[in-house]
Amino acid sequence: MAPLSPGATALVYCERITSGRRSTIADEEPELGLAALASEPRAALSAPAEPSTSYLRRTALTELGALADAFDNEDDENDDRPHRNGSTAHAQLRVWDCLDTATLLVDGDIDWLREDSEDAGPDPADLVAVIVLARAGRAAFNGEVYDRCCAVNPLHGPATARHRVRLSAPADRPRGRLLHVCAHCRATALAQPATVHALLMTLPGPADGPDRVPYDETAGPLYAVRNGIPQLIDEVREITGAEFPSGRAAEGPVQAL
Ligand SMILES: [Zn+2]
Repeated sequence: MAPLSPGATALVYCERITSGRRSTIADEEPELGLAALASEPRAALSAPAEPSTSYLRRTALTELGALADAFDNEDDENDDRPHRNGSTAHAQLRVWDCLDTATLLVDGDIDWLREDSEDAGPDPADLVAVIVLARAGRAAFNGEVYDRCCAVNPLHGPATARHRVRLSAPADRPRGRLLHVCAHCRATALAQPATVHALLMTLPGPADGPDRVPYDETAGPLYAVRNGIPQLIDEVREITGAEFPSGRAAEGPVQAL
């Protein structure tokens, strides 16, 4: 994940990210991202607790491609669409923040996510961050701005409640932690609290480390998603050396939405 020039603009990102890809993205796994957005419980049930790098790469490609397409195809006649949460400007800013930072994580080139790319691609934690940001951006594009993902597995989708859950073996931490969780994880915590730790997302570990690592213990910005989408956006920009903390993006890209 090499630092990008702070002077790079949204339009540059979008031109790079959409070039040569639009005709193939939608055909690869169209149901994957749409299902995740259409139904949060469905997303929770379909999101694996132990995703492979290949799965994350395919999903990141689909999700970021869909967000870039939505951004690219937006036109002025949609500026007055109703938004369920927050103002139109807030939702537009979130779309931009998510697209900008997800693009930073792929060094401005979505083709880096392709499995036939000559490069290894982003590491698993950055791939999860790309997916989370792309989904949050797509939701904001449709007027739903949410700040919290499920802390058990961010790929479950938006959090719906705070609940005390145990993410390690019962004997290790009997009281658990108060976390933002999705409806699926909350229901599991209520019905079978000793099993919630099995839902915690782990990622492939480094070559010289353990096979699997809890997602929030990985290197890079992903850990910040525990505190919220805005915090993840800020952390990505902090690590990549980009400007504009979330909520204060440059005027040009926002107006371009
Ligand atoms: Zn969950």
